[in-house]
Amino acid sequence: MKRNLDNVSLDTVVSLCKRRGFIFQSSEIYGGIGSLYDYGPVGVELKRNVKDQWWKSMVRDREDVVGIDASILMHPNVWVASGHVDSFTDPLAECDECHRRYRADLLDTNDCPDCDGILGSPRHFNLMFRTHIGPVEGDDNIVYLRPETAQAMFVDFDNVVNSSRVRIPFGIAQQGKSFRNEITPGNFTFRTREFEQMEMEFFCEPGTDEEWHRYWINFSMDWYADLGLRRSKLRVREHGADELPHYSKGSADVEFLFPWGWGELETISNRTDYDLKAHIQKSGKDLSYYDQPNNKRYVPYVVEPAMGADRSALAFLVDAYDEEEVKGDTRVVLRFHPNIAPYQVAILPLSRNAKLTPKAREVYDLVRSRFNTQYDETQSIGRRYRRQDEIGTPLCITVDFDTVESDDAVTIRHRDTMEQVRVPVAGLTHAIQHQLDGIATEALVE
Ligand code: ATP
Repeated sequence: MKRNLDNVSLDTVVSLCKRRGFIFQSSEIYGGIGSLYDYGPVGVELKRNVKDQWWKSMVRDREDVVGIDASILMHPNVWVASGHVDSFTDPLAECDECHRRYRADLLDTNDCPDCDGILGSPRHFNLMFRTHIGPVEGDDNIVYLRPETAQAMFVDFDNVVNSSRVRIPFGIAQQGKSFRNEITPGNFTFRTREFEQMEMEFFCEPGTDEEWHRYWINFSMDWYADLGLRRSKLRVREHGADELPHYSKGSADVEFLFPWGWGELETISNRTDYDLKAHIQKSGKDLSYYDQPNNKRYVPYVVEPAMGADRSALAFLVDAYDEEEVKGDTRVVLRFHPNIAPYQVAILPLSRNAKLTPKAREVYDLVRSRFNTQYDETQSIGRRYRRQDEIGTPLCITVDFDTVESDDAVTIRHRDTMEQVRVPVAGLTHAIQHQLDGIATEALVE
């Protein structure tokens, strides 16, 4: 797909997001609140597509992965066993002058980045949000908002094995909200305090784990690229021994080239048998697996692809953004893959007119049963095209007087080329599918 821009500033994307209803600051009328965001009417469709595509390729298209949807609040011992209560911390250093706080591990100096002050020695700050179950607040009823979705897959391991037909190797996947009281959130929705994760724990026999680790790294890279992210903006970065989390034998990040540099979209970790063994010890329950054909029992190893839905949605947005000169004007266009675009089709009667509206709505009803479709007859046709370009709708369908008076055909306008073709209403859904397939293929060319 031909693109003009190689990169875009984050400010440009942030202002487009607000203008077109992708993403707003949370509680904006009260001045906003630290690094929390709301998805607007268009953004919610984008994020839903990201999640649906992941669920489809991870769960529905596979026989060896099943899903769950666990509660956000879990027994506090889950987080003791997983190590989060003791070690899910960041080193926090406070300036003696301005009293701002910083992640000490992200700075290589004791000088305050914002004033002439000196940073004090770091103390460890647990990133989990705490609350209480029941009406009385006490130390014995503390619960945590989950900082990751993964633990439920370990805790429910036995229930899933006993209630479904899965046999090792197999995975359990989940999508949902996670919460981290990050010290230095930032870069828009890249790092927030409430976010959505898409995680899958793949249980395998010890000894096969490294092969599966490579498999899932490749799977993830292909997943992003197949949905249109440019391969030139994706890379795999293996973790050095010094950055491996306590549970991991090997981790690799899939990174994307954001406007501020490379940033993590996903970590694929070889978690070994760390988590299942920790829960066996803490709960006293046997979570080992009986391999019937080979008559042996073992605690499985686990390979985990852990992806952020918000970060991925941001990467798709940034990568899709493009501008071009059209007759002396700048056209902003989001070149989304059709499966990621918030809307696939827009139905636009040439003008708001009593003759056109009934036919346009008839076409709308026909199309929306198959594709996510917007109907718009509010402004001039030029402004409506522009609006659809800015939210990345691949195809606009115009209903005009010829449609009603003579040919019962409509015009399909292509987002990327702006070319228009006339198509009979009778064959419309077929023609739309054909054009969307063409755009999807084009999106993979780079
Ligand atoms: P980082 O190093 O950026 O803090 P992490 O390595 O702690 O991230 P993981 O625990 O591996 O992140 O979580 C898996 C995925 O969840 C990340 O790759 C990211 O996409 C997403 N994620 C984690 N923390 C946040 C956050 N604060 N805001 C948005 N997404 C997040």
